[in-house]
Amino acid sequence: MLKSEAKYRIEELKALLWENSRRYYVDNAPAISDFEYDRLMHELEGLEDEWPEFRTPDSPTQKVGSDLDAPVGENAEALAGNDFAKRAHRYPMLSLGNTYSISEVEEFAARADKLLTESFSYCCELKFDGTAICLTYRNGKLVQALTRGDGVQGDDVTENARHISNIPQTLHGDFPEEFEIRGEILMPYAAFDALNKAREENEEAPFANPRNAASGSLKLINPAEVGRRGLMCTLYHIPAQSITFSTHDEALSKAASWGLPVADSRRLCKNIDEIKSFIDYWDRERKFLPYATDGCVIKINELTAQRSLGYTAKSPRWAVAYKFKAEQACTELLSIDYQVGRTGAVTPVANLAPVQLSGTVVKRATLNNEDWMKELDVRVGDFVYVEKGGEIIPKITSVDLSQRHAESLKPVFPTTCPDCGSPLVKAEAEAKWFCTNRDGCPTQIKGKMLHFCSRRAMDILAGESSIEQFYEAGLARCAADLYDISKFQLMSLEGWQDKSAQRFLDSLAESASVPFERVLFAIGIRYVGETTAKALARHFGDMDALAAAAEEQLLEVEDVGEIIARSVYDFFRDPAHIDELARLREKGLQFAVNGSAAALSDALAGKTVVISGNFSISRDAMKDLITAHGGKAGSSVSAKTAFLLAGSKPGPEKLKKCEQLGIPVLTEEDFRAMLPDVPDSPASQAQPEQGSLFEEPTLF
Ligand code: NAD
Repeated sequence: MLKSEAKYRIEELKALLWENSRRYYVDNAPAISDFEYDRLMHELEGLEDEWPEFRTPDSPTQKVGSDLDAPVGENAEALAGNDFAKRAHRYPMLSLGNTYSISEVEEFAARADKLLTESFSYCCELKFDGTAICLTYRNGKLVQALTRGDGVQGDDVTENARHISNIPQTLHGDFPEEFEIRGEILMPYAAFDALNKAREENEEAPFANPRNAASGSLKLINPAEVGRRGLMCTLYHIPAQSITFSTHDEALSKAASWGLPVADSRRLCKNIDEIKSFIDYWDRERKFLPYATDGCVIKINELTAQRSLGYTAKSPRWAVAYKFKAEQACTELLSIDYQVGRTGAVTPVANLAPVQLSGTVVKRATLNNEDWMKELDVRVGDFVYVEKGGEIIPKITSVDLSQRHAESLKPVFPTTCPDCGSPLVKAEAEAKWFCTNRDGCPTQIKGKMLHFCSRRAMDILAGESSIEQFYEAGLARCAADLYDISKFQLMSLEGWQDKSAQRFLDSLAESASVPFERVLFAIGIRYVGETTAKALARHFGDMDALAAAAEEQLLEVEDVGEIIARSVYDFFRDPAHIDELARLREKGLQFAVNGSAAALSDALAGKTVVISGNFSISRDAMKDLITAHGGKAGSSVSAKTAFLLAGSKPGPEKLKKCEQLGIPVLTEEDFRAMLPDVPDSPASQAQPEQGSLFEEPTLF
């Protein structure tokens, strides 16, 4: 590889790793599997070793992933109001060097043999897959709980930790006056399943895995709610400076005797063979544990030996994590369904003989698209391997050809829509087939109405079953029809009562004040997500200007490329859409930025405003209000901040910073007084935002 190529790839890898690190640690919504993330990290390490001049202190290879940034993304609402005080760790909280290869564990042991002159042993432990915690006890009482944060400082989650049932508030026995102990907060599978079920019922985005759920739950603002999430703690490390001991194992035994939850799965091993049997044992047996583990940690047991080996910038040299490959299960493929989504995309979904995988029973898995099916050469009746990555939907990764029946046939991908029978088409650049009957296919029609009603769009109280009822009863074929449904018609449907009907009608009426940018997102223009809708609304200002825009004008908008421009252009030239938009306009929906949360005034022009605490409206709505009046919503207080807008329970750190820098702190009342004619509390924005459920077909 040329030097210039190496430099380019290193920059590319750094950007990719930081982006995915933020999604994982801050949003708790990973987009790639851990295996893929670790593969990219190892590639970067290799390149930086080869070209050390390109290794910078900010490289992901030099720093532990941080969970301290402001939350964004699908689970952000769970963290809204997160203003935990940041506190410095007395001793840095590091990560662990990790590997997926046994030969690298052998190398670790060989290196220890070579470097250590005194005799030593290994303490082998399970690698618990949760989120790290550091507890401090003083005089036998829990006084502080910090997350790992960026390793140097963490979020103070003491009140939340007090609500985790197996963290003792008080110790017994001969504990030292003050010490720190570290471990992991886990969400057992049973609690995880219950939480995701409840979230799905509330039409909230489910957590991808128990690790993300544990991490998101630990940072909830309501400690009692943390208590209800069923979290547990397991402890595995006491910093050497904290108490007197000669081996790691001895320190953990002492901690257990004081009543602290220390797992008894650890074993002392003398050599690499014993380490390998420990790993083999847990690679099999971990399936029966009630919580997630993702590997084994091998630590040098003797403190003096640990000190001789020392630390890198990011991890101790006296320990290594061996990570298990993503758990796979082999099961029979019973049949293949072809599901149509709201965009008309057809996704093949495998129905499987139920099989246990990572603590849950898997019955369905995605086959992505026709090309992937061909690549796998998968057939009904085959035994297939299923895997769960970072994401929630399991996928089929390979086929066990040795178990194939001689008479099995290649599946035939449909050429017509499984729902309405219309022909399927595939554009050149697409991997998916699409149903052409965009305005007549029942699944697409219902999917579009559901999307229109979703919380991030018009926030109308109608879920999947209500839309199904409206469709079946012939009451609604498009979003505009929803506004014509009468109370009498609703009451004639099964399960509807006066109260539920009124709530639905009220939510329809309230949708008239939903800002233009969300209306634009709600009408379901292909490829126009929330961000693009916002950009289009800001650029064009109203529906008419957008509808009249030529493709070249659309291309002037930030992040709008040719595919989006064409899609928007075509949308506004379709007679059915023109007709529906006219009806929605008549119902009084916001078709322009004025009167919505955008461009209300320039009262805050040039000002950066930081918000902290809770307000009469959601924090997102408050930020919208700031931008609507020409201001910019900043995330942290700096010399450039115009003022801090403080609601109830503002973050003490932000207040302190304002005091230090002499930045004014305003209440919500002061703030509203600065703005011309602002309604008190826009009803449409009172609810926290949720993830859209309707991007693609829902599998489970
Ligand atoms: P890690 O999870 O690989 O290992 C370090 C952590 O292991 C410690 O901080 C501790 O919390 C935990 N741990 C569990 N059991 C332990 C034990 N017995 N002893 C000591 N520590 C124990 O490292 P990390 O820095 O927390 O996270 C990095 C990893 O996270 C990556 O290797 C990757 O797999 C994953 N990640 C994934 C993505 C993604 O997009 N999928 C993004 C970022 C990170």
